[in-house]
Amino acid sequence: MNYKIALIKGDGIGPEVVGEAVNVLDAVGRKFGHTFTYTDVLMGGCATDAVGVSYPDGTAEKCKECDAVLLGAVGGPKWGADKPAEQRPETALLAIRKDLGLYANLRPAVLRPALKDACPLRAETADKGIDLMLVRELTGGIYFGQRERYDTPDRGVECADRMAYSELEIERIGRRAFELARLRRKKVSSVDKANVLETSRLWRSVMHRLSAEYPDVAYEDVLVDNCAMQIVRDPGQFDVMVTENMFGDILSDEASMVTGSIGLLPSASMGDHAPALYEPIHGSAPDIAGQDKANPIATILSAAMMLRYSFHLADEADAVERAVDAVLAAGWRTADTAEPGVTPVGTRKMGELICAAL
Ligand code: NAD
Repeated sequence: MNYKIALIKGDGIGPEVVGEAVNVLDAVGRKFGHTFTYTDVLMGGCATDAVGVSYPDGTAEKCKECDAVLLGAVGGPKWGADKPAEQRPETALLAIRKDLGLYANLRPAVLRPALKDACPLRAETADKGIDLMLVRELTGGIYFGQRERYDTPDRGVECADRMAYSELEIERIGRRAFELARLRRKKVSSVDKANVLETSRLWRSVMHRLSAEYPDVAYEDVLVDNCAMQIVRDPGQFDVMVTENMFGDILSDEASMVTGSIGLLPSASMGDHAPALYEPIHGSAPDIAGQDKANPIATILSAAMMLRYSFHLADEADAVERAVDAVLAAGWRTADTAEPGVTPVGTRKMGELICAAL
C-alpha cells in the first residue's frame, strides 16, 4: 500500500525529530512492504520568515490531500507575543485544528519499562506500570467560549469566560473513548465536575447513555479533583480517561510528568474524517535546536500512532514500539533521559538505533 503523509517539520528541533521519524517510517516500509510518500507543508515561525504569515493560504488543503499529518513542533522566541497574531506560530496550531476538524486529542501516558527509574512516583507504584490513554475534547468548552471584560461601578474590572458543551460535542468524544477502550483494556473513566458545573452534569448524562451501548466496557465517573490526586497515587488504575478541554489540558500534563521525560510522549488529534494529525507533546525546544541533542522518540512514537490509528497497521505500530523499548532496554539514552554516568547519544544516532532494532 502507498500512504501519503504531510510533514509539518516546523521550528526549533521540529525538523530534526521529524527527520528521524521519517527514517523509521521508511524502515517500516521496507520491512512490511509499504510505501510512504511525503509532502512538506510550511507552517509556523519558518512560514512567517518565508512568506510573512505562520499559516499560509492552502496549508489545510495540502494536508487534506494526504492520509495523515506528522508535525514536529512550531514556535520560538523569535515569533513571540509582541508579534501580530498572523505571524505567531500558535495561531497556526489553532487554525489547523479547526480547519481539519480535530476535536479529539489522544495523549497516551506510558511508562516505558526500561525507564521506570525516571518515574517520580514511589517504586511500588511505578512497578505496577502506567499505560493510560487520555482523550481530551479539543474544540469546545471554556477555551472557545465567549469572553467578556467590563467595568463595574464598585468592583473594578470584571471578566467572564463562558463554558458551553452540546450533547453532540460530548457524544462524539465519548464514542471515541469507548471505541478506543475496546482496543485496549476495556475501561473508561469519565472525568467531570458534576457536583458543581451544569456542563459536567450534561457530560455525565451523555456518558451514562453511551455506557449502556458499550456493556463490554467498564465505566466509572471520576471528579476532576479526585482524578488529579489518583494520577499521582495510583495511575495504573486507569485505561482510557475522557474529559473536556480545560480539564484535559491540565490532567494530560500531569499524566505526562509521571512517565518521565517529555521527549518520550506522542499524541494524536482526530476528527470524523482523515487526515488526523500526529505530533510529540513537546514544543520546539529552542534551547537545544540544531545541536543533535533532541530526543526523537516522542515523534517516532507519534508515527507509530499514525500507523495504528490512521493506517490500521497494528503489527507495524507494535514493531516500532518494540524497537523503541529494545533500544532503551539496551541502555541507549539521549541527554534528557540519561542517568548519571551514562554517555548520551544524539538525535541521529537514536534514530539509527531504532531503525536497526526494527
Ligand atoms: P518545550 O517542550 O519546547 O521545551 C521544554 C524543555 O524540554 C526544554 O528544556 C527543552 O529542551 C526540553 N525538551 C523538549 N522536547 C525535548 C526533546 N524532544 N528532547 C529533549 N529535550 C526536550 O517547551 P517550551 O520551552 O515551553 O516551548 C518552546 C516553544 O515551543 C514555544 O515557542 C512554545 O510556544 C512552543 N510549543 C509548541 C508546541 C507545538 O508545536 N505543539 C507545543 C508546546 C510548545
